[in-house]
Amino acid sequence: MSHDTPFDLQGRVAIVTGGSRGIGGAIALGLARAGASVVVNYAANAAAAAGVVGEIGAGGGRAIPIQADVGDLAQHGRIVAAAREAFGRIDILVNNAAVTKREPFLDATPDAWGRTVDVNLKGAYFLSQATARVMAGQRSGKIINISSVHDDRPMADNSVYNITKAGLVMLTKSLALELAERGIQVNCVSPGAILTDETRDRTSDPFRRSRVLEKIPANRVGDPSDVVGAVLLLASPASDYITGTTVYVDGGMLLK
Ligand code: NAP
Repeated sequence: MSHDTPFDLQGRVAIVTGGSRGIGGAIALGLARAGASVVVNYAANAAAAAGVVGEIGAGGGRAIPIQADVGDLAQHGRIVAAAREAFGRIDILVNNAAVTKREPFLDATPDAWGRTVDVNLKGAYFLSQATARVMAGQRSGKIINISSVHDDRPMADNSVYNITKAGLVMLTKSLALELAERGIQVNCVSPGAILTDETRDRTSDPFRRSRVLEKIPANRVGDPSDVVGAVLLLASPASDYITGTTVYVDGGMLLK
């Protein structure tokens, strides 16, 4: 199938988990600028979500906020229902929400394991299932998982996070294999060091910042907007023959 406007998302409906801030916020805005209607999911910060929804509306786009904890599978139905009620369909799911709890392996507790896996991995898996059931009926869809360079390179004192991100890569491949015949592509985007609320401490202290920059050939910390292009490619018809793959958006970090 050929496409005259392969990056156009007019008429498409996207859900972005954790779409209220940071990388998810930039993705929500980017998808809306490309023409998609966007469901902006968030956990607690309603004002931030309202800000993203307001910015999309001010730009002539359509968006709604939906509070839901993606780590609680019982809340997934509300996200899917909100998308269908507001916009009638679901074409794109971006599994972006994640949590991290830094602790050395020798101090790790089952609690941290449970919450991190519930949000980062189990939440992504079952929200993908709920949306893929809708996409399968439409015979098309795009699922994009936001992983991390730490799916390949472990970060010290963050083993459970690293493991969930590595799991997302295999989740991507497994779902891609099963959903290909239904016209659904599943891919992964793995950012390097990006300046967000989550990483501000690490990247604003001069000493810690220089330690981070030593690892990045591009010699700069990324901005959330740096991640948007890869997501737009994987959300659009331009990627209809790309599935099961991971795109690293890391300024070359994995080369070192
Ligand atoms: P962030 O600034 O901390 O934002 C997190 C977002 O996720 C917020 O919108 C938050 O909502 C939402 N969220 C958190 N827990 C949630 C839950 N249980 N259910 C629903 N939403 C939830 O994060 P970020 O740095 O942009 O990271 C976004 C993604 O990129 C994550 O998957 C992260 O692992 C990945 N990543 C980030 C970096 C980086 O350098 N920043 C690098 C590699 C990968 P509230 O506003 O309501 O709290």
